[in-house]
Amino acid sequence: MNKLQSGLKLTFLGGVGEVGKNIMALEYNNEIIIIDSGLAFPSDDMPGVDIVIPDFTYLINNKQKIKAIFITHGHEDHIGALPYLLRELPNVPVYASKLSVALIENKLKEHKKIKCKPISVKPKQVIKVSNFQVEFVKVTHSISGSMALAITTPVGVYFHTGDFKIDYTPIDGDAMDLVRLAEISRKGILLLTADSTNAERPGFSMSERKVGATLDNLFVQNQSKRIIIATFASNVHRIQQILDICEKYNRKIIFTGRSMLNICETAAKIGELKFNKECVVDVNNIDKYTDNQLCILCTGSQGEENSALARMANGEFNKIEIGNNDYVIFSSSAIPGNEKEINNVINLLYSKGASIIYESLAEVHVSGHAYQEELKTLHSILKPKFFIPVHGEYRHLRAHSNLAKDLGMNDRNILIPEIGDTILINKNVIKKWGTVPSGIKLVDGLEVSEAGGIVQRDRMQLASEGICIVTVTISSKFGSLTSKPDILTRGFMNIKGNEEVLDECKDLILNQIINSNFKTQDWVQIKNNIKKTLQTYFFKKLKRKPLIIPIIIETK
Ligand SMILES: [Zn+2]
Ligand SMILES: [Zn+2]
Repeated sequence: MNKLQSGLKLTFLGGVGEVGKNIMALEYNNEIIIIDSGLAFPSDDMPGVDIVIPDFTYLINNKQKIKAIFITHGHEDHIGALPYLLRELPNVPVYASKLSVALIENKLKEHKKIKCKPISVKPKQVIKVSNFQVEFVKVTHSISGSMALAITTPVGVYFHTGDFKIDYTPIDGDAMDLVRLAEISRKGILLLTADSTNAERPGFSMSERKVGATLDNLFVQNQSKRIIIATFASNVHRIQQILDICEKYNRKIIFTGRSMLNICETAAKIGELKFNKECVVDVNNIDKYTDNQLCILCTGSQGEENSALARMANGEFNKIEIGNNDYVIFSSSAIPGNEKEINNVINLLYSKGASIIYESLAEVHVSGHAYQEELKTLHSILKPKFFIPVHGEYRHLRAHSNLAKDLGMNDRNILIPEIGDTILINKNVIKKWGTVPSGIKLVDGLEVSEAGGIVQRDRMQLASEGICIVTVTISSKFGSLTSKPDILTRGFMNIKGNEEVLDECKDLILNQIINSNFKTQDWVQIKNNIKKTLQTYFFKKLKRKPLIIPIIIETK
């Protein structure tokens, strides 16, 4: 066998050069383990799409080689596509932390046919799968139960950070296990892949605890107001701090928003979220309390349509009406691309008289991802031979690669991958080995479809150009029209003032039918001809390209 072939192969199906859908496949000697299986959110040119998932073709084609799936933490960009992957790999075991397992199980309830029972693991636990020994290592991040993976392979040790920051004073008191990192490093790290989200930010990220202190102050300053806090439902530590502050100042808490209710209930059930049940009030009982006795915790910090906060801002939330005694805290940061929606919600809340505070006005949020100085600590402890920056857009990956170079790494030992790349690593070399099929699939409800497929194309055309439906009734006996064609349009043109256009259309269709030979031409061909004629006409006359649907009704 070629010497080069006997290395580790790391294949990226997402998460590099983009934000979201993190997933990698690690292969040695015809055995594969998968790390994470995340989703991305749709962009503006994907109307009606709920989520975007990676193209799993490569994994499906190599099904028999896949031995296990390891999950670093329970954020959607790491577990969101897991049900769709498990549809293809029903018998592959999934290993994850306790909270991640609970969140995955919640997700799988919507996918009834999947029988997978994810296996809960603890920090320092080692899972041996074929040629790989996978050790889970505790890290700090914006969701509890986050872990890095130290994978011992026949070629050397591969360390993957997962999403992390170095928080010395985390809410659960369980800091990132730097001691274990140093111990693992002593064996020598062949390869490091690490979170690049904040590789452009100098300094250190603030501790989660800082948010608690800021929120505490805001509660004191706004004693007479009703406090509404929008945050990420998965940030269990943030929610724990809010619950503790509410208890301290005798405020009852109301959870609103489906994911907030779901995740808090799940986290409470497994002991990750601790609070006095009497402090929690159902939204239906809100009238029993005065404003200064309440704190409403809601989803919608990204301005998401239909979220609890957006509905409150729009005046569509039954039981909660926003007014000038409301103090709204966005305990979050804007995920790039969501700024417009967030602004919208902020403007609506202001217009209803609420006071609002967000990240740029006070320290009401901290990032869950390591800043430059934390990344330097990580690199300095692990001292990897080879490095691949992951989890970020290209600019973040480049910044992280520059940081590694500043720390003395040789350029030749660093590689920035693209989606679909397979990287080969052995004791002496890191190089691009080849590419595999990759891309995206769109999920609409439970249905998975191709990107750029016909449904998407139609939706885009409908949204921008409208629709024109032509109905023609033909007598099969006489081979002629029984009446003039009927034309119905939506979102295309004003009928009023365009009567002449409609009449010309009808004449064109009539000519088309008259010139059709019913004996030699089939209906499909006649429909296509009508479509082509109208397409040309509409474009010439109105410079428009509506979706045209001809319907032929046959009567005896
Ligand atoms: Zn992530
Ligand atoms: Zn994360």
